[in-house]
Amino acid sequence: MTAQLLDGRQLAKALQAELRSELAHLEASPTLAVLQVGDDAATTQFGQAQEQLAHSLGLQFVAKQLTATVTQETIEAQIAQWNRDAGIHGIVLLTPLPKRLDLPRLAATIEPIKDVEGISPYRLGRRSWGGVRIGPCTALAVMALIESTKAPLRGKEAVVIGKSDIVGRPVAMFLLDAGVTTTVCHTGTTERGRLQEHVERAEILVVAAGTPGLVKGSWVRPGAMVVDVGTNVVNGRTVGDVEFEEAAQRARWITPVPGGVGPLTVTMVMKSTVEAFTLQQRS
Ligand code: NAD
Repeated sequence: MTAQLLDGRQLAKALQAELRSELAHLEASPTLAVLQVGDDAATTQFGQAQEQLAHSLGLQFVAKQLTATVTQETIEAQIAQWNRDAGIHGIVLLTPLPKRLDLPRLAATIEPIKDVEGISPYRLGRRSWGGVRIGPCTALAVMALIESTKAPLRGKEAVVIGKSDIVGRPVAMFLLDAGVTTTVCHTGTTERGRLQEHVERAEILVVAAGTPGLVKGSWVRPGAMVVDVGTNVVNGRTVGDVEFEEAAQRARWITPVPGGVGPLTVTMVMKSTVEAFTLQQRS
């Protein structure tokens, strides 16, 4: 392997140390409130990881789990209660939600200043204007890994595969903000047989498709930075969307899966909560 590993666990530890020292200077401790609907195992695990890290950093944590059959109105009432509560500084609505629920309508009920994942219409709009980095923790984690390389970004060619609201789109916006020439690929690109040609010119490649082996190692541009967000279980092993071994022969930097983006996401939620708290103290 010639590529340098972008180690999410190590970066998470460094960011947590920074957060600890920031928290030590605050007059009160921020409180994060997390709402889960249903009992999906991966969502439960993510909520528990947030609780553990919050406690270890010294943030207050409030968790609420509602049954999968809960009404839209009950969820809205819970969010409204947290919006009114001055002791709650960050609100996270864990996804995926049961399909019958209207996520955009729920997102619109979260008070923007407490919306640490940036899903409310105001925060989404604010992100589109650029200049501020508001967004889902996975997208923030991708940017933290990219920036940890200290490589100049302005004018570089980036290709993002995937256009979901929680990864592809926000990452593309953040890259644009950083002056990166950014192309977003998706299933339509693959259907036209154009994915390889885009990947081959990427100096920064972010892959978030959820398709193991989608990106062949031989497509990776020599010297590229590869951030693989994909998390797929194949024969009991967790793998990304990129053929790791082959890609690592060509890339300059590459994220392992697991151990790349994943371990950073929870830390980014805490960071966003501390930022929300600081904003609320100022306003
Ligand atoms: P999603 O299903 O919402 O979106 C996938 C996107 O990839 C879509 O825009 C789709 O057009 C594109 N896509 C799918 N197959 C493709 C193909 N063959 N060619 C080109 N584009 C294709 O998924 P998501 O929520 O954005 O997650 C993407 C992946 O990232 C999943 O594997 C998910 O498990 C993983 N993920 C990991 C973390 C983490 O913490 N490591 C967090 C979130 C998501």
